[in-house]
Amino acid sequence: MRVRGITLREIRMPLLVPFETSMERTTVRRILLVEANVDGTTGWGECVAGETPSYGPETTETAWHVLREFIWPLMKGKEFSSAAEVWAMLERVRGHEMAKGTIESAIWDAEARQKNLPLWRLLGGKREEIASGVSVGIKASLEELVRAVQVELEAGYQRIKIKIKPGIDVEPVRRLRKEFPNIKLMVDANSAYRRPDWPLLKELENFYLMMIEQPLGWDDLYGHVDLQKKLETPICLDECIHTEEQALAAIELGACRIINIKMGRVGGHTVARRIHDLCEMNGMPVWCGGMLEAGIGRAHNIALSTLPNFTLPGDVAASKRYWAEDIIEPEVVVSPRGTIAVPSGAGIGFTPRVGRIEALTVRKELLSE
Ligand code: MG
Repeated sequence: MRVRGITLREIRMPLLVPFETSMERTTVRRILLVEANVDGTTGWGECVAGETPSYGPETTETAWHVLREFIWPLMKGKEFSSAAEVWAMLERVRGHEMAKGTIESAIWDAEARQKNLPLWRLLGGKREEIASGVSVGIKASLEELVRAVQVELEAGYQRIKIKIKPGIDVEPVRRLRKEFPNIKLMVDANSAYRRPDWPLLKELENFYLMMIEQPLGWDDLYGHVDLQKKLETPICLDECIHTEEQALAAIELGACRIINIKMGRVGGHTVARRIHDLCEMNGMPVWCGGMLEAGIGRAHNIALSTLPNFTLPGDVAASKRYWAEDIIEPEVVVSPRGTIAVPSGAGIGFTPRVGRIEALTVRKELLSE
């Protein structure tokens, strides 16, 4: 196999509802898409980097720069036998996992299309439907939060996650537990707390949460080791885990009991699958997180979520929760039971709507051999 060329493009898409985390409020997504021409077959990848470096160090802009200046020159003219080899070819670029994951996942899509296989089968997935949960952003009032959660429960979602930050933590959880005593509920702090805040996180244990996601610093693995010893509720790590080695360290040190795997955060499907396998061998469940993806990223998340150890509902939700109109056909839909049917078509199993993508494109560049 050889990548004959890649097209980088940036599209802009307004979110139907602004999304607020402990770090920022997002209203319009700037999304970098990659079309990889692999021996004449097109594969699609979507970069999960945000507009600002507030989730991790990468941004839409840095991903474009690194793909253009460093990743493409490493790929250009190189022969390889499967998408699984691409990760190793990019070793000379340190970090920049989101940029790497964009092209790596596009090549996985192309390889699956060439083999006329669904991507999830090529990855070794086992499930024909995946369980869907939602991530609810910080709201202006508790009433608004309750209404938002009610809407998601009525739509069938199996698990509710809410974003928290200092000052907006115990009260929203208390209120939701009062309104919905039996739902699967969890919180995500996106690294908003520090180690001395542990008594507050301990207070959250009164509300029998499934897990507390990434409470401490985005690179503070040791802090989570200390915190997990103090808490009975499982800690789930997200931002801290960029590599297979960090996942192993988290498991061996006891920094968490659950890992949220995001394909983009770890550099593509190859490493995502290795972390999945490592967690499975160590009896640690995983689930697939979301990054406000448009349809192509969402489709890759569905494929990844079919691996056997994705036993907890993920944040892979319906297109219509985020977008007036998605960029794939058909859109991602969630059943009243809170599940997504895994597509049977080749590659990601959804068709990119090229006309719509063109209309949303604000810049585009073809890099070829
Ligand atoms: Mg998270």
